[in-house]
Amino acid sequence: MRAPHDILIIDAPHGPEIVVGSDVAPPDAVPVLVGHHDGVHVWAASVGTQISAPSGTAFVGARQLVGALNPESFGLFARARMLVEWERTHRYCGACGTPTAVLADEHAVECARCGLRSYPRISPAVIVAVTRADEILLAQPVRAGRAMYTVLAGFVEAGESLERAVAREIAEEVGITVGDLAYAGSQPWPFPHALMVGFTARYVAGEITPDPTEIVDAGWYTTGDLPELPPRGSIARALIDEFVRVHTRKPWVLGALAASRRWV
Ligand SMILES: [Zn+2]
Repeated sequence: MRAPHDILIIDAPHGPEIVVGSDVAPPDAVPVLVGHHDGVHVWAASVGTQISAPSGTAFVGARQLVGALNPESFGLFARARMLVEWERTHRYCGACGTPTAVLADEHAVECARCGLRSYPRISPAVIVAVTRADEILLAQPVRAGRAMYTVLAGFVEAGESLERAVAREIAEEVGITVGDLAYAGSQPWPFPHALMVGFTARYVAGEITPDPTEIVDAGWYTTGDLPELPPRGSIARALIDEFVRVHTRKPWVLGALAASRRWV
């Protein structure tokens, strides 16, 4: 069933992970077909942490792949991780508890008894760069566990629009209101199965009042005094980098604009 030049992505649930260009199957693992890449099959498998990496390969932490892979490869990795996680957590029907079977023609599992179908889980989350004139709102999340500052983010709740989720998350986490919401891109975020939907927004009113259960510290920052930021390759960093690009005044640009008189 497997082609001789498959790419294999091994996902160990509690630690090491690997991206392998290989035709060697890991022991005791049942690979999931993720898709195709440059004409070859891409498989993913979950193995126990006791498994050693095949010769010539190494396990690396999943989050280390953020910024290390190009967007296409990161998308494959994200899909692999989400599918493996989905299969791991949908072996029994959620309605009647009967073992499920993987369908051959689509990524779904089906209950042999009651027919319930389950599809890979994707959890939308909003992530927002809030600006006030030449400042950006950055916060240190409790979950970061260190002095890393980033834009605010949170999961969309049941029955909620993306716009409503942005307003609620920002109000809950720092107590301010925002407006002028604009879509700014998205990124699959397989930790374990989120889809980050990015926005920019402008500050409207309120004093920053961090929710201590979620935020250690939050404040307004200009391009000249930025704290430690999230890694490149994340949509969080892309939103911050775009703020920096827009608000960094390069002397040669101002000079060129002045010479052209177009800004007068
Ligand atoms: Zn069932």
